[in-house]
Amino acid sequence: MKAALYYGQEDVRVETVDADRVGPGDVLVDVAACGICGSDLHEYTAGPIFVPNAPHPMTGVSLPLRMGHEFAGRISEVGRDVTNLSVGDTVTVNPIQSCGNCRFCAAGKRHLCASIALIGVSADGGGFAERSVIPAENVVPLPESVPPQQGALIEPFSVALHAVRRAELTVGDSVAVYGSGPIGLAIVQVLHAAGTTDVFVVEPRAARRELAGDFGAMTINPIESDAVRRVKAATDGGTDAAFEVAGIEQTYNAAISSTKRDGTVVVVSVFEDTVETHPNSIVMAERTVRGTMSYLANDRADGEFQAVTKMFADGQLAPDQLVTSVISLSDIVTGFESLRDPESDDIKILVEV
Ligand SMILES: [Zn+2]
Ligand SMILES: [Zn+2]
Repeated sequence: MKAALYYGQEDVRVETVDADRVGPGDVLVDVAACGICGSDLHEYTAGPIFVPNAPHPMTGVSLPLRMGHEFAGRISEVGRDVTNLSVGDTVTVNPIQSCGNCRFCAAGKRHLCASIALIGVSADGGGFAERSVIPAENVVPLPESVPPQQGALIEPFSVALHAVRRAELTVGDSVAVYGSGPIGLAIVQVLHAAGTTDVFVVEPRAARRELAGDFGAMTINPIESDAVRRVKAATDGGTDAAFEVAGIEQTYNAAISSTKRDGTVVVVSVFEDTVETHPNSIVMAERTVRGTMSYLANDRADGEFQAVTKMFADGQLAPDQLVTSVISLSDIVTGFESLRDPESDDIKILVEV
């Protein structure tokens, strides 16, 4: 079968590989669609970052690696111990793999496992392939009203929902979002669905700013005006919370400065570089800066994958509006090239397999 393998920086190859064996606890998924994630793009432009050079301690996986962790498809084979899934079911995949033994796994926080691996990043089974063998516990069934092309977007929206939950907002809170790429836009949609109306989006690229406006946000072009000053002026001195979703020094510091005294900043980005910041901006105003990492694993009833699936089914979110291109697996490199091009209007590219 055909699959896209990541060999290193600017080196992704579509090759013919052997199909994996379906173990007793696994299902075989015929992949329908897999999204190119911002983190895949980081790996392509500046990696390997999270893709292990040496065998991963838990999964044993190393370069070259089958990429893709935002995908959905239809089950075509079921391992003999799997009782809750059937051939023909449409499913999406929660890529988290954890050890089950460390203090974080024991506390129900498998997404913070000391040996964490993600399918398509540091574990086998990436979705840029015709078929993928997935442990049944990583699969989330899709209702009929959520087609697999939408199912592939449940992962980035789960990142967004987890980030919004980390902000611990209450009704009427105001929010600033720095950066409206796919995750920033998904955060704006989740905020909108949650009834948060005072949302300011700071984004230099016109197409992304426009889409944020369509989702109900007030938008600011930071090239044309001082974003922090405008946010503060519109919110009596600062928002209750801010999301940093751009991953550079300027937005990191601006997100902090945009919040009110005792405000909360959620850092969603993965940074390629260190940043210079003054800790007094946190100390003197009693601000809280917190990270957010992926989403909860499927063993949690309050997991974001289940919640987002339901929000898609209920029409509370508009995932299709983030998809700007649909390409074939053999064209995957053109997808990476478009996403790294600052002149391109691409936001989320789906690879249809
Ligand atoms: Zn992702
Ligand atoms: Zn663990």
